[in-house]
Amino acid sequence: MSTEKIWLSSPHMGSNEQKFVNEAFDTNWIAPLGPHVNGFEEDIQNYNKVSHAAALTSGTAAIHLSLILNNVGAGDYVLVQSFTFSATVNPIAYQGATPIFIDSEEDTWNMCPKALEVAVQNCLAGKYGEAKLPKAIIPVHLYGMPANMDAIMAVANAHGIPVIEDAAESLGSTYHDKHTGTFGKMGIYSFNGNKIITTSGGGALVSEDAELIQKARFLATQARDNAPHYQHSHVGYNYRLSNVLAGIGRGQMQVLNDRIAQRRNNFKRYESFFDKVNRKGFNIVLQQEPQGSFSNRWLSCILVNPSENKGISREDIRLALEVDNIESRPLWKPMHLQPVFEKYPFVSTGVSELLFDIGLCLPSGSNLTDEDFDRIFSSLEAIFK
Ligand SMILES: *Cc1c(COP(=O)(O)O)cnc(C)c1O
Repeated sequence: MSTEKIWLSSPHMGSNEQKFVNEAFDTNWIAPLGPHVNGFEEDIQNYNKVSHAAALTSGTAAIHLSLILNNVGAGDYVLVQSFTFSATVNPIAYQGATPIFIDSEEDTWNMCPKALEVAVQNCLAGKYGEAKLPKAIIPVHLYGMPANMDAIMAVANAHGIPVIEDAAESLGSTYHDKHTGTFGKMGIYSFNGNKIITTSGGGALVSEDAELIQKARFLATQARDNAPHYQHSHVGYNYRLSNVLAGIGRGQMQVLNDRIAQRRNNFKRYESFFDKVNRKGFNIVLQQEPQGSFSNRWLSCILVNPSENKGISREDIRLALEVDNIESRPLWKPMHLQPVFEKYPFVSTGVSELLFDIGLCLPSGSNLTDEDFDRIFSSLEAIFK
């Protein structure tokens, strides 16, 4: 039996990425602009059916620019999903704004619309300091599962607060047939190495608003005014994606639908495996798609409540897999529990803390082989005897 490491989610190249990269070399477009950057942006627009896209160095950079473009500054409130990766929240801190953490709902594991409304009311009532309207709302489509966008947009629209969607993990996921990332005023995607497709590092900002995306491109290239010399009237950033990496992205966009099919198939395999386990008196829970939601199933996750599983915890499973050189990982630790952010306000539903306690992400790469799954399942079978 092979003892090569089975990763949680590793890059999976198609057949044309190298060709696009070679083209960048052959034409000497080795710069943070060029034909691949433009082509990649068009691919992102066409795929997601959104009018404008800016290709950037990372998803984090995209979130940062979206906050700047919404005039989020020192002392402003930003309502953000607590159950997420820290990159959702760090840019709020870059701007000196105050994150207000919103807990999750049970169905989607994402931002609870009811807790969101409570947080808006708390901001208006001055419970967190100065009484004022929050500047932005950032829901996240975690693990590819679309957030409850109808209800979130209803709260946002009722108060006139712009929504920035963190769709870093959900490229290709849809909610009532519309792509995640295209519901709010702006949306962001990530092409980091472990995402469903990758440029090694990269991100994108999308919007229906041409002017916003034009401003994003301007700020992302050091905010250079129109002059023969270098002239600046704004603080700028170096956030534009390299033409070489955009070449990888163009190749990856060609195989995105295959990658989604492969990841969804992973989920199906886990589902039928755990169906069999559960018939032996266990109760392993997998996240279901609510009606109208289509998840790219970036990561397949399970909930393991020890009280329903003969005392077995997610840590027991993680450690047993590790012994067999198989990577798995607890669900995201909520931001309101992180030492760096624990001083900020939090509107609780109790859901994200439970998910963190009992949740585990299983190997989910689109490049997992039948042999890999044999290893994963035989390792798991030894636990659920
Ligand atoms: C990966 C990720 C990001 C950040 O994207 P980078 O491209 O790595 O900067 C932001 N939010 C979530 C939820 C992510 O998973």
